[in-house]
Amino acid sequence: MALTSATNLGPATALTCRECGHSRDLGPHYACEECFGPLEISYDFGDVTRASIEAGPRNIWRYKGLLPVPSDIEETPNTEPGLTRLVRADRLAGNLGLAKLWVKDDSGNPTHSFKDRVVAVALAAARELGFQVLACPSTGNLANAVAAAAARAGIRSAVFVPSDLEAQKIITTAVYGGTFVTVDGNYDDVNRLASEIAGEQEDWAFVNVNVRPYYAEGSKTLGYEIAEQLGWRLPDQIVVPVASGSQLTKIDKAFQELIKLGLVEDKPYRVFGAQAAGCDPVAHAFKQGWDVFRPVKPATIAKSLAIGNPADGTYVLDVARRTGGTVEDVTDEQVVEGIRLLAATEGIFGETAGGVTVGVLKKLTESGVLDPSAETVIINSGDGLKTLDAVAPVVAPTATIAPTLAAFRAAGIA
Ligand SMILES: *Cc1c(COP(=O)(O)O)cnc(C)c1O
Ligand SMILES: [Zn+2]
Repeated sequence: MALTSATNLGPATALTCRECGHSRDLGPHYACEECFGPLEISYDFGDVTRASIEAGPRNIWRYKGLLPVPSDIEETPNTEPGLTRLVRADRLAGNLGLAKLWVKDDSGNPTHSFKDRVVAVALAAARELGFQVLACPSTGNLANAVAAAAARAGIRSAVFVPSDLEAQKIITTAVYGGTFVTVDGNYDDVNRLASEIAGEQEDWAFVNVNVRPYYAEGSKTLGYEIAEQLGWRLPDQIVVPVASGSQLTKIDKAFQELIKLGLVEDKPYRVFGAQAAGCDPVAHAFKQGWDVFRPVKPATIAKSLAIGNPADGTYVLDVARRTGGTVEDVTDEQVVEGIRLLAATEGIFGETAGGVTVGVLKKLTESGVLDPSAETVIINSGDGLKTLDAVAPVVAPTATIAPTLAAFRAAGIA
């Protein structure tokens, strides 16, 4: 490692332990020296206003004053994700009996998932901290994002995924070049291996392991964008998919920061987590009333969410309980139904994680847990083109006909 402490990470000031509050200098650290708890970035925000943000670039760097990245970050090649569309979803809302619903469609990012946000911030920090290689263990989308970002930055990537990953995600990672290893094991096995490799390869930045405090802050931009796109307002309810739980906790952190900075009005909002029944450690703990989840062995088609031992699972429980939300799960059949419902009502083809989120939205609406009159936002975090196998068995052309008008008439589809 060339550097042990960072010089230019914008408004970031220190790394602070989430468990015991112990602080240390910014650097390539992720665990507390005192208690091994996870470290989180502390800030001294300067003068960030709605106008200064609105004058910024049309990507996540418009929020650079709220992120651990250099103040001239837009000068350095990165993938420039963000500012994805917030779609008013009246047809889906009507189908479910909701008054006002929005879909934050993060499939519009450079590698078609929300992971480009976290990787862009991790890459910026990794460069600043002197790392030479961008690496990760991944459930698929992170591998895509890391391989693409490293290619654009002109540095080496090294990504590790479970070998049973969707074919589309294997191809959309391999195409960027770089070192790409499939591992015979599930994500939790791959993650453990990555931690061990990180201990040996000192100049490898595993974005979600040894630079995780920086990486995780990238998810805040989802929260900032939703508020800005609503006209600098917070929604009443939000449904967020949960894998490691980082995205959900950071959307909440973003909302809290916007309130503290006076960029939005303070108001109550409820945060709901969405998991697949085949990998539901957080939803299960929530329903049982536990403070801490128990790890599970994943078995679900929602592979991007298949983390059985989620790093931020406990903090998801905290956010859901503090805000009056819940964490719910749906079966694989409901995931497929969710994908089809979103596609058929809004013309948005989400991946299995989107199906989980729509499925949970439907389940919580039908059970009366979600308030149908409240303004609701859901996240579509990835692209259906990467998980084609999930819907391939249940969709098909209406008919196959000869190229004649007679055949069209005979098919009875007019
Ligand atoms: C990784 C991922 C998530 C969840 O992210 P966490 O921050 O780990 O909870 C959600 N959706 C998709 C498509 C993902 O790839
Ligand atoms: Zn600590």
